[in-house]
Amino acid sequence: MLADKDRIFTNLYGFHDWGLEGARKRGQWHRTKEFVDNGREWIVEQMKASNLRGRGGAGFPTGLKWSFMPKEVDPQRPHYVVVNADESEPGTCKDREIMRHDPHLLIEGCLIAGVAMGAHTAFIYVRGEFIREREHLQAAVDQAYEARLIGKNNVHGWDMDILVHHGAGAYICGEETALLESLEGKKGQPRLKPPFPANVGVYGCPSTVNNVESIAVAPEILRRGPSWFAGLGKPNNAGTKLFCISGHVERPCTVEEEMGIPFRELVEKHCGGIRGGWDNLLAIIPGGSSVPCLPASECQDLPMDFDTLRDKKSGLGTAAVIVMDRSTDIVKAIARLAHFYKHESCGQCTPCREGTGWMWRVMERLVEGRADPAEIDMLLEVTKQVEGHTICALGDAAAWPIQGLIRHFRPEIENRIAKRRAADAGRPAVAAE
Ligand code: SF4
Repeated sequence: MLADKDRIFTNLYGFHDWGLEGARKRGQWHRTKEFVDNGREWIVEQMKASNLRGRGGAGFPTGLKWSFMPKEVDPQRPHYVVVNADESEPGTCKDREIMRHDPHLLIEGCLIAGVAMGAHTAFIYVRGEFIREREHLQAAVDQAYEARLIGKNNVHGWDMDILVHHGAGAYICGEETALLESLEGKKGQPRLKPPFPANVGVYGCPSTVNNVESIAVAPEILRRGPSWFAGLGKPNNAGTKLFCISGHVERPCTVEEEMGIPFRELVEKHCGGIRGGWDNLLAIIPGGSSVPCLPASECQDLPMDFDTLRDKKSGLGTAAVIVMDRSTDIVKAIARLAHFYKHESCGQCTPCREGTGWMWRVMERLVEGRADPAEIDMLLEVTKQVEGHTICALGDAAAWPIQGLIRHFRPEIENRIAKRRAADAGRPAVAAE
């Protein structure tokens, strides 16, 4: 269990002032000049030593990512920090809490990241639907300019401009290269990689795209020291993490906890347990809608971290934990996600454009039981043709929930088909094991 003294986000629900005065009272913008003066190499080394892994879903080491930026800055190709605040993954609602209630942590983090990457400009790309978040963030940026914490000739001695950019509501713009395209004013479609953004990013210049939470924790890592952060959680899964727990728990919430906390402890401590008790738990999706579900039998003592969940053939993703009790029609729930991915596909590559629609249509028939049992394996085969064969990870994200459903709930699908056939033939169904 995370001690209160180890929390980074102490204003998650806005009980205190989110503005500059409140931020300073919570210790923000403290010793920032010292960190800036220590310079680029020092910051990158501190971040590497903290073992922070990116909080946007992929879990790539943040310090290492920052070190990929070119060491020399070509004046013709300035470096950019880009913050991915296009939080749109179903179930995920953590970055919005940071922007609403602790925006100065993010702004201070942009300055630190700017020094670490040799950048004097940061773009924060905010999801189009996040109106209140944008307002708070922009107001906090204005405060920071006014107090000369950022901008030209600021008190920290590192010129830093921060621009809040409004998205227009497309999920795919949360993919880093689609975000860069959109930022440039083009249609938000992912780019082929390589080249990677650290070489060719926004406006063709070296850029690093980071999630809001990854940037917002950086100042506290420097203030408290990387060994403090690395000492929390588990080896290779260090630090604290914002978990968003939604669905059939007594009290859905967003909460900061130690990485690796067991699922049961997370839910008992912060959410008042499962609705109707633990025997009523059917399944969870542990990391936002893109990762495969896990059945109740595999959840209870499950450590919530990147490596354990990967070994379980699922994922921590954004740590958006969707809890489903036995009242859930899980086939229908996954069919709904299939529709989401079909709708959000940018249509650029054939396996995703055609495959997401195909998978959704089969899922809809499985919901009704209007399918042949052989189609379950055919659907599984199609998910494998989509997975890994597309420009961006949306294809994988569409395939994995269906794979998880078939892996863990195949009898449920087979029973539907059997019931439907029996009903159509006017005889009682025989349930699958
Ligand atoms: Fe677009 Fe889908 Fe291809 Fe990604 S995988 S580039 S969303 S068509």
